[in-house]
Amino acid sequence: MNTDIPTNVDHSEIDKFSRLAHKWWDKNGEFKPLHDINPLRLSYIDQFGHIAGKNVLDVGCGGGILTESMAKHGAAHAMGIDMAEKSLKTAEIHALSEGVSNIAYRCVSVEDLAAEQPHSFDVVTCMEMMEHVPDPASVIASCAKLVKPDGVVFFSTINRNPKSYVHAILGAECILGLVPRGTHDWQKFITPAELARMSRAAGLDIIGTKGLGYNLLTQTYALTDNTDVNYMIACVPA
Ligand code: SAH
Repeated sequence: MNTDIPTNVDHSEIDKFSRLAHKWWDKNGEFKPLHDINPLRLSYIDQFGHIAGKNVLDVGCGGGILTESMAKHGAAHAMGIDMAEKSLKTAEIHALSEGVSNIAYRCVSVEDLAAEQPHSFDVVTCMEMMEHVPDPASVIASCAKLVKPDGVVFFSTINRNPKSYVHAILGAECILGLVPRGTHDWQKFITPAELARMSRAAGLDIIGTKGLGYNLLTQTYALTDNTDVNYMIACVPA
């Protein structure tokens, strides 16, 4: 057993999410945007990762919005990991209430899990999490180590440019109130070029990139080719 204290954790971030842990499954609450984008990202993941029958890992899973949807979508088994115990409790209770049994949640850092069981997942997802950790490159390297040689890894985050400041901070937090104020720190956002560089350094090749656009009029999200604000990538071991 690894008894080291994980270092790549910003405890103020964990506290922030822990305080909201009871709200993960309130589809009109603080995590509404994650519920709204979930069908889109699930279909993107399935397009490259063909989830049915696969062993999937969701890193920084929170209350399990994506983890549980992958379990229900036919994954043989889905594991969700996070450093916020309270969120994992919420995730477990929700899975139980839904009768989803092919799922497990663990409070373990991605670095420790990678040391414990390398190359053991067909699909690894790490969505909307990297902008909350001190060292995103370490998360990316650990995800690369966790995936099987023929598996697929998915990352999503928020681009860093003036437009993303206006949309993700001013718009989503201050004006529209889509997410609570202080959810994001613009300086920790990651550009596609930075994400590509860190992925390549971890031995991953990018096989797909998609933006997630928000339409103010219809208040809906859609997959787009515009990565100016929210975006995700699919990668395979090189
Ligand atoms: N991936 C989920 C939740 C995103 S919110 C989804 O997209 O639906 C960001 C999550 O990252 C929170 O649950 C938070 O607790 C988690 N997190 C932040 N730092 C972390 C770390 N160092 N290790 C694991 N999870 C972390």
